[in-house]
Amino acid sequence: MKEQLEAILAKAKEELSAVQSARELGDVRVKYLGKKGELTTIRKGLRDVAPEDRPAMGQLINDVCAQLETALAAQSEEIERKALEAKLAGETLDVTMPGKPLTIGKKHPLNVVLDEFKEIFLGLGFSIAEGPEVELDHYNFEALNIPKDHPARDTQDTFYISDNVVLRTQTSPMQVRTMEKKKPPIRIIAPGRVYRSDAVDATHSPLFHQIEGLVVDKDIRMSDLKGILELFAKKLYGEDTVVRFRPHHFPFTEPSAEMDIQCYRCHGAGCPLCKGEGWIEILGCGMVHPKVLEMSGIDSTEYSGYAFGIGLERMVMGRFKIDDIRLFYENDVRFLHQF
Ligand SMILES: [Zn+2]
Repeated sequence: MKEQLEAILAKAKEELSAVQSARELGDVRVKYLGKKGELTTIRKGLRDVAPEDRPAMGQLINDVCAQLETALAAQSEEIERKALEAKLAGETLDVTMPGKPLTIGKKHPLNVVLDEFKEIFLGLGFSIAEGPEVELDHYNFEALNIPKDHPARDTQDTFYISDNVVLRTQTSPMQVRTMEKKKPPIRIIAPGRVYRSDAVDATHSPLFHQIEGLVVDKDIRMSDLKGILELFAKKLYGEDTVVRFRPHHFPFTEPSAEMDIQCYRCHGAGCPLCKGEGWIEILGCGMVHPKVLEMSGIDSTEYSGYAFGIGLERMVMGRFKIDDIRLFYENDVRFLHQF
């Protein structure tokens, strides 16, 4: 009997070791421990054993059954472990695999410099003003001391929408609009698009950008204007930047000037960038004409002010050594990605 039990246990264990799935495992259990299983049958045969041998035999059968249960449980665990391993292997994430690159947009070069410009003037206590690009003739010209038939109108090839409405040719109308609305002290910059009916070439475009500056307060002098513009030039072009002011004429400022910076490539020696001059013109400026103050409702005996206007494109072209203005508007990503 004992040998028979041991033989059954050995056979069961051998079958178990070949088991691959939970279902096969169940089959083995039924084969040995089920209602008609081999071990169950032997247990039923106990009643034919002599009464004095029964306890020992029963104990033996229990031991074998317990050993088989243990083996079944171990194999069941093994099957589960293998299934989990296979599942994990199938879901492996290769963290070293390069990702799909996302193309992220970049700031347009005009905005790169404009943002720097704003940053500088906001830091100096200026605020930003915005106004319409479709403008009344009154704001674009007349209130800036450029009446109808004034020769200065000829220098600004204007897009007329009607006799009294134009596409603004400059950001200077924002001076008038600001002074009409606000009482001094006034301290604004007004960046924006302007339009002139110029033929397109490497340095001309019918659409470009200007930044207007206006300060009106008591006791504002030419020295305030020079000081703030020199400070601005040094912040934008570097601390060692040298500036100069040349007398000029604008109808809406008196006196008027243009500001040059010493060529940042040749430092004044003369090179193709500055056309041999050693200086690069940056902006026009001047003291606000008393007539302009008066037309905007500001008492010119009490207040004075200065204004300046800068061409954004020219500033950016100098800064990044761009030699064709058309590149700004073509939106060629090969160009835009360089900034
Ligand atoms: Zn130069």
